[in-house]
Amino acid sequence: MRLRKIKGADEAVAASPYVIPEDPKLAGGWGKLFGNASPLHIEIGMGKGRFLMELAAIHPEINYIGIERYTSVLVKGLKKMEANPLPNLFFLCMDASHLEQCFAPGEVERIYLNFSDPWPKDRHARRRLTSPEYLKRYSAILAPEGRIEFKTDNEALFDFSLESVKATGWRLLDCTRDLHRDPHMNQGNIMTEYEEKFSAQGNPIYKLTACR
Ligand code: SAM
Repeated sequence: MRLRKIKGADEAVAASPYVIPEDPKLAGGWGKLFGNASPLHIEIGMGKGRFLMELAAIHPEINYIGIERYTSVLVKGLKKMEANPLPNLFFLCMDASHLEQCFAPGEVERIYLNFSDPWPKDRHARRRLTSPEYLKRYSAILAPEGRIEFKTDNEALFDFSLESVKATGWRLLDCTRDLHRDPHMNQGNIMTEYEEKFSAQGNPIYKLTACR
């Protein structure tokens, strides 16, 4: 993804009350931060955050963390949050490879991966957010009944992800190659920014859910 650096984004993210600074002390302490013991769901690579903001508004009984590594992207989500604050949603500006430093074993009940960067070159396969390397990281922080939910418009990335699930011994719970025409899996679907764009171009949306 080509990214235009937004002037002042670093400062805005650093000063925002909605962004929690990356800190190993966070692990195991999210309930305290939210002030309740609700289940914790996270989205990795949330972009501008529309998906998570809609979800958090519908589900006040769940605590959400949106993870995005670029301040220039996150700052757009912050503007929406300032206009419409949600008590059950915080953001973390960090790279997902640091997940295990910020979440304790078993602390997360669900991980959303939406339209993750495809990293098409073989030598970059480990960077894909559904690679076996990342599934191992998710395994370390997911609750026993926890699961991942992954959507993409990229067939090659989807096939790679199915292979990863199989190779790591995870269990595929559900899978579709045309989400918007699958009445079961599309039930309650919340569109992300990318999903809206790609489906408007006529691309099918792929989705899988999996657990360990
Ligand atoms: N999820 C949004 C959607 O569906 O509209 C945005 C999708 S965009 C293609 C992928 C986003 O993931 C980008 O904003 C990118 O910066 C972020 N991202 C990619 N790899 C990441 C990583 N390792 N850690 C945190 N964020 C990441």
